[in-house]
Amino acid sequence: MNQPRAVVIGAGIGGLTAAAALHLRGWAVTVLERAAALEPVGAGIALAPNAQRALDVIGVGDAVRAMSAWQGEGGLRTPSGRWLSRTTPDAAAERFGGPVVVAHRADLVGLLAALLPAGAVRTGTPAEVADPGEDGRPATVRATGGDGRSGVREYTADLVVAADGIHSAARQVLFPGHPAPRYAGFTAWRFVVPAPERPFSPHETWGPGSVWGTVPLHDGRVYAYATATVPAGERSPDGERAELLRRFGDWHHPVPDLLAAVRPDGVLRGDVYRAATAPPAYHQGRTALLGDAAHAMTPNLGQGGCQAIEDAVVLAHHAGPGAAGGAGLERRLAAYTRDRLPRTMEVVRRSGRIGRLTTWSSPPARALRTAAFTALDRLGPRLALRSLDGIADWEPPCAAYAAGPRGTRGGGGAAAP
Ligand SMILES: Cc1cc2nc3c(=O)[nH]c(=O)nc-3n(C[C@H](O)[C@H](O)[C@H](O)COP(=O)(O)OP(=O)(O)OC[C@H]3O[C@@H](n4cnc5c(N)ncnc54)[C@H](O)[C@@H]3O)c2cc1C
Repeated sequence: MNQPRAVVIGAGIGGLTAAAALHLRGWAVTVLERAAALEPVGAGIALAPNAQRALDVIGVGDAVRAMSAWQGEGGLRTPSGRWLSRTTPDAAAERFGGPVVVAHRADLVGLLAALLPAGAVRTGTPAEVADPGEDGRPATVRATGGDGRSGVREYTADLVVAADGIHSAARQVLFPGHPAPRYAGFTAWRFVVPAPERPFSPHETWGPGSVWGTVPLHDGRVYAYATATVPAGERSPDGERAELLRRFGDWHHPVPDLLAAVRPDGVLRGDVYRAATAPPAYHQGRTALLGDAAHAMTPNLGQGGCQAIEDAVVLAHHAGPGAAGGAGLERRLAAYTRDRLPRTMEVVRRSGRIGRLTTWSSPPARALRTAAFTALDRLGPRLALRSLDGIADWEPPCAAYAAGPRGTRGGGGAAAP
């Protein structure tokens, strides 16, 4: 029997997880990535137990846990350092079956890419959905470059996975006129630096219309992120480190030490967008939307990547081992939409609500917010944990795949363009 063929557009966390899961289910997979290299982003990513369980299905949950630092006690603070709420990894484990772990994105991407056969990922290869296909007709993807070739190449596939991120062109092809994601009202900065000498606890600190978070990574570095309520597209004329110093330079330890350690060009900045409305479906014909392409969300719950990872495993579950020619695939993709659209859009909404709270800047509004947090925190389980109820306790629809098809595992990664 011919092997069924899948083409994945986008080698972010969602696309790579989908490619790995489909490969492990017996699909021949090609991943087309526009960027010249995989995930150059120097930032961390929090992976809650829901995502870890999805990663267990493709056999890398333990490896991800091993590449993450034990977070220790941490919580929510004010800029002066007062604690509003504290929690521990043990409390999360008790509630959700495991702690939230934080990995470096490049490590996670490397691990996922290593699950794929050599040459499966083609970088420097922008791609578009030329035809989403239907039962009885394969889908077609048109790509430029790849394999060291120039010019345009067409790939036909039994299944196309469009994991091309927030500003997904594939989503526009599947659902023309569907409103693009909207600016969430705040921008985000991220960087990774060596840990400061003076010890610190992981924290997220809420100030006037702004947030700072610091979490340790497993290799002696820390991942720091910040957000602030500003008009879309605004950039600092004297550099983003200078902007962070102005906004956060007098916040509690370790913020000033981290700002002293980061290079002026070491800070990433990107405006935050969220899905304005749900697309009509997460599939059309033989093409599935996945990750931010389907459900862009604000980062406040740390779930955008986690939901992309869940999508990937659920998609591979419904796609099945795959018959050549992809018979019945539209029906299987409809099941993927049914499983994923309501859940992920609920996470988009919940995350957006928290995002809006972070934009409050007037003193009375902030005083009200602080009082509410303090009261809520006294009443029951810690705030950070409660916000993940119904999300972090998710279970995948299938057990772990025993091994790769025909024993293939790893080989890993990208073919140069
Ligand atoms: C500040 C911040 C902090 C965050 N923190 C967390 C966190 O702690 N935990 C968490 O789970 N999530 C977090 N997220 C969200 C998370 O980063 C995203 O949800 C996740 O990266 C989405 O993955 P993806 O694969 O769907 O999309 P992306 O990571 O955007 O990947 C899309 C890929 O497609 C490629 N591409 C685009 N167009 C084309 C094309 N035409 N042809 C070929 N390739 C193309 C892009 O180059 C890219 O590599 C955070 C987000 C932000 C902004």
